[in-house]
Amino acid sequence: MSKERLVENIRVVPDFPIPGIQFYDVTTLFKDAQCLRELSDTLYEMYKGRGITKVVGIESRGFIMGPILATRLGAGFIPIRKPGKLPAETIEQSYAKEYGEDTIQIHKDALGPDDVVLLHDDLLATGGTMKAACELVKKLRPKKVYVNFLIELKELNGKAGFENEVEVESVLSL
Ligand code: AMP
Repeated sequence: MSKERLVENIRVVPDFPIPGIQFYDVTTLFKDAQCLRELSDTLYEMYKGRGITKVVGIESRGFIMGPILATRLGAGFIPIRKPGKLPAETIEQSYAKEYGEDTIQIHKDALGPDDVVLLHDDLLATGGTMKAACELVKKLRPKKVYVNFLIELKELNGKAGFENEVEVESVLSL
């Protein structure tokens, strides 16, 4: 399947959730059985052989392909969640948004020094969320961190500002 076919199956919703935002809806990609299979195969080909032990998904759209990819790679899956959702002891990271601040959390015992981590989310816009997720994961001192998105919005230049040692890759660049 071509990347064009994947792109055709993304639903772009104007003015959602607020006026002026073009929302890239990936539920239509996941709905199509061939697209879902293609995403799984593409992600597997991108990350096989890198020794990844944990896929870490960001709430909530990172919870869909994240576990699928973890299964393919023979890795575990770890959720990063909004405050108050994880039941055991957590560590957290706050970050600035356009209006105000947000916080994300991970279980303190989720990762260790032997882990090679693939952080995954559906879409890279400004990169604020993922950069905070990188900082959060690094507090648990894993061996290596990779970052992945299904879609990267090029014109927002969200890739800038990631530390050099973090490899940031996307399935689709729009
Ligand atoms: P950012 O921190 O700006 O990179 O925003 C990334 C997070 O917000 C991801 O979890 C995305 O799912 C969501 N997001 C931001 N902008 C969009 C958009 N235009 N379409 C769909 N999701 C978006």
